[in-house]
Amino acid sequence: MNSLKRKRRRILLLFAFGVGAPSLLLGYLAFRGIRNDQALLEKRNRGELRLIAGQVASAVEKSISKVEEDFTRLAESRDNSLNPDSRELLKFKKRYPLVEDVFLLHRDRAVHYPAAALLYVPDGAMKTAERPQESAAARETFLAGQQAEFRARDFKRAAILYRQSRGQARSLQMRGEVLNALARVQKKDGLFRDAVDTYKLIAQDFGQVRGLSGIPLGLAAGFEIVALDLDLEDRGAAFQAALDLYKELTGGKWALEKAQYDFFSLKAVQALETILSSRESNGEWAAYKTDVQVLKNREVSERRKTERLLVFQAEAPSELRRMASQDSGESRAGGKRAALNAAGRSYLVSLLGPRRENGDRENVLWGLLIDREFLKADILAKAFQRYVPPEGTGWAVKGPDGERLMSSGAVPADSLELQADFSGGFPDWRIELRRQDPHLFESFLTSGRGLYFFAFLLIGGILIFGLVLTVRSVTQELELSRMKSDFISTVSHEFKSPLTSIRHLAEMLQSGRVPSEDRRRKYYDVLVEQSERLTRLTENVLDFARMEEGRKEFRFEPVNVAALLEDAVSAARERVGHEGFEIGFRADRFLPLLEADGAALSQAVDNLLDNAVKYSAGKKKITVSAEARGRHVVVSVRDFGLGIKKEEQDKVFERFYRGGEELTRTVKGSGLGLTLVKKIVEAHKGSVRLESELGMGSTFSLWLPVNRPKEGNHGKDPDHRG
Ligand code: ADP
Repeated sequence: MNSLKRKRRRILLLFAFGVGAPSLLLGYLAFRGIRNDQALLEKRNRGELRLIAGQVASAVEKSISKVEEDFTRLAESRDNSLNPDSRELLKFKKRYPLVEDVFLLHRDRAVHYPAAALLYVPDGAMKTAERPQESAAARETFLAGQQAEFRARDFKRAAILYRQSRGQARSLQMRGEVLNALARVQKKDGLFRDAVDTYKLIAQDFGQVRGLSGIPLGLAAGFEIVALDLDLEDRGAAFQAALDLYKELTGGKWALEKAQYDFFSLKAVQALETILSSRESNGEWAAYKTDVQVLKNREVSERRKTERLLVFQAEAPSELRRMASQDSGESRAGGKRAALNAAGRSYLVSLLGPRRENGDRENVLWGLLIDREFLKADILAKAFQRYVPPEGTGWAVKGPDGERLMSSGAVPADSLELQADFSGGFPDWRIELRRQDPHLFESFLTSGRGLYFFAFLLIGGILIFGLVLTVRSVTQELELSRMKSDFISTVSHEFKSPLTSIRHLAEMLQSGRVPSEDRRRKYYDVLVEQSERLTRLTENVLDFARMEEGRKEFRFEPVNVAALLEDAVSAARERVGHEGFEIGFRADRFLPLLEADGAALSQAVDNLLDNAVKYSAGKKKITVSAEARGRHVVVSVRDFGLGIKKEEQDKVFERFYRGGEELTRTVKGSGLGLTLVKKIVEAHKGSVRLESELGMGSTFSLWLPVNRPKEGNHGKDPDHRG
C-alpha cells in the first residue's frame, strides 16, 4: 500500500514538474507581457498628458508675452521715455483684459497707477495742497464779502463783493473759492436759480479745485445742485444730478480719501433713494431704479479693484525692488515675472524696463498686473478646451497651497496623474491632468490584448483539467492495481482449496483405504464437484481475460431459454441441494427462442446462482424465473440473503469489485462473477438490472432482447477496452 502511495506521489510530482511548471512559466510570461503592455500604455498616456500640459502652459505664456511686448512697444514709442500717456494706457488696458492694471515704480519706491480709476486713496494719504500766492486786493475784497455775509447778513452786498474779488483773483483756487461763496449767498438770498447756475459753473470750470475742507469744489457743488433742485421742486433734475454724481463717484472721478468717498457715496445713494421713494413708481421711475442698481453693482466691483490695488501699492514695493534688483540671467525679452502675495491677496506681476543705463528716467520701472480671473476664465479655460480631449481626461488648476482654482467637471478617480508647472513658474499654479489608469484586468480585455487573456485562461484551464484528470486516473489506476493484487491472492486461494481436497481424496482412493463403497461414491461426487468448481473458476478467469483483450467469441444460435435454465437449476440443485438449498424454477409457457450464445448464458446464470448461494446468509431459498416482457425475455435470479447497499449497487458490476461488508469478505470470490454477467448480457444487446435491499435479498434480472443481435457485432465483446 505504501509503495502505491509513493507511486501516486511520484506521478503527481511528475505532473507538477512536467506540466505544471511549464504552464506556470507560460502564465508568468503572459502576465509579464501584459504588465509590459500596461507600462507602455501608461507611458504613452503620461506622454500625452505632458504634451497637453505643455500646450496649455505655452498658451498662457504666449498671451502674457504678447501683452508684455505690446506694452514695451507702446512705452518705447514715446520718445524712448518709457512714459506713455494715460489715454494710451487706457486704450491699452481696454485692448488687453488680461491686464488688471499698469503701474509705475518710481524712484521714490512708491507704486503709482497712471491709468487706474481708483475710487479713493487710503485715509491720510491725500496731501493738503499748498495755497498759491494771491493778490492782496482779492483777499481783502473776499474778506469784506465774508463780513457782509456772516456779520451784517447783507447778502446782496456780499454778492457784489464776491464778484469783485473774483475779478481781482489770479489763481484758479481763489477764483473757485470766491465763486463758491457767491453761490452760497445767492442761495441764502433765495436766488435759487442763480445759485444753481453758479454751482454749475463751478462744477464745469473749477471742479477739481479743492476748497478749504479739501473736498473738490465740483463734488460739493454737485450736492448743492441736488439740494437746490429739490427746493425748486424739480425732482427730475434733482434725480439726474444725483445720478450723475453717483456715476462720477463710482467712476473714480474725484480724488478722495476712503472716509470721504464712503461719506459722499452714501450721501448720493441716500439722495437717490429719497427721491425715488417720494415718487409713485411709474414705468419711467422703474427704469431709474435699475440705473441706480447698476451703479451700485459697479461700485461693489470697483471697490474690490481699488482695495486690491491699494493693498498692492502699500505692500508690494519692497518685493518689487527685490525683483528689480535681481539679475535674472536669462534676461527675458518680456519682463521679470513673479507671483507676489500681500495681505492674503495674490498678484501676478510682470516688471518691465528700464532699458537704458543712463538718464533720469531709467529709475522708473513699469509693471503690469496680470488679471488672475481673466487668465483663468478666458485664457486657461479656452486652452483646456482646445487641448484636452473631451473624454477620459480630467484637468484642474491648483494654487500654491494646493487649493483648487478651477477644474473640469469630471475628474476620473483612481487614475494616472500628471502635474506640471507653468513656464517659469508663472503663474505660481500647477496644472493637474488625470487620465483613467489602465488597470491590469482592463488591459486583459482591451482589444489586441484579449489574446493574452484567453491564452491565460486556456493555460489555467488546461492546468486544472490536467490536474483533475491525472489525480483521477492515478487514483483509479491505484485502486485497480490494489484490486488486481487482491484478485490474485483470492484466486490463488480459490484454486488452492479445491486442489487440496481433490489431492487429498485422490490419495485416499489411490491408497485403497476407503472403507465402504458408499463412502467411495461420495468421494467421487466431491471430486467431480470440486473439479467442476475449478473449471468454472478457470472459465471465469479465462473468459474475463478474453473479454478484456477483446478476444472472446460468442456463437449465436437459437436457444431455448427455459431448457437452458432448467439444466442450470438442476445442476445447482445437485451441487447445493444436500446443503438444504431450495431452488425454485418457473418459466412462461411460450417463451420465444433467443438468438444467443448458450454456453455464455449458462455461465452468467451459473454465476448468479453461485452468488445467491454464497451470499444467502442462511436463507436457503432461491427462485429462478423466465418470462416474456414485450420484446425481451427476462431471466431473474432471486435470493433472500444479504442484499446490497444502494451505494454499492452500481459498483458490484465493476471488475474485481468485492463487497465491502465484513460478511462478504469472509465469503470466497474473485470479484469477476458479475463483471462477466454484465459483459455477456451486453454482448446480447441486453442489460442487467439489480433490485436489492440490505438484509432482504437481491434480484438480478437479465433483460435479453428477442431480436437477433446485429451482424456487425457478431462475436465481439462490445465493451472491450483494449
Ligand atoms: P464475488 O462474488 O466473487 O465476490 P461478484 O462479481 O460475483 O464477485 O460479486 C461482487 C460482489 O457483489 C460480491 O463480493 C458481493 O459483495 C456482491 N454480491 C453479488 N451477488 C450478491 C448477492 N446475491 N447478494 C448479496 N451480495 C452480492
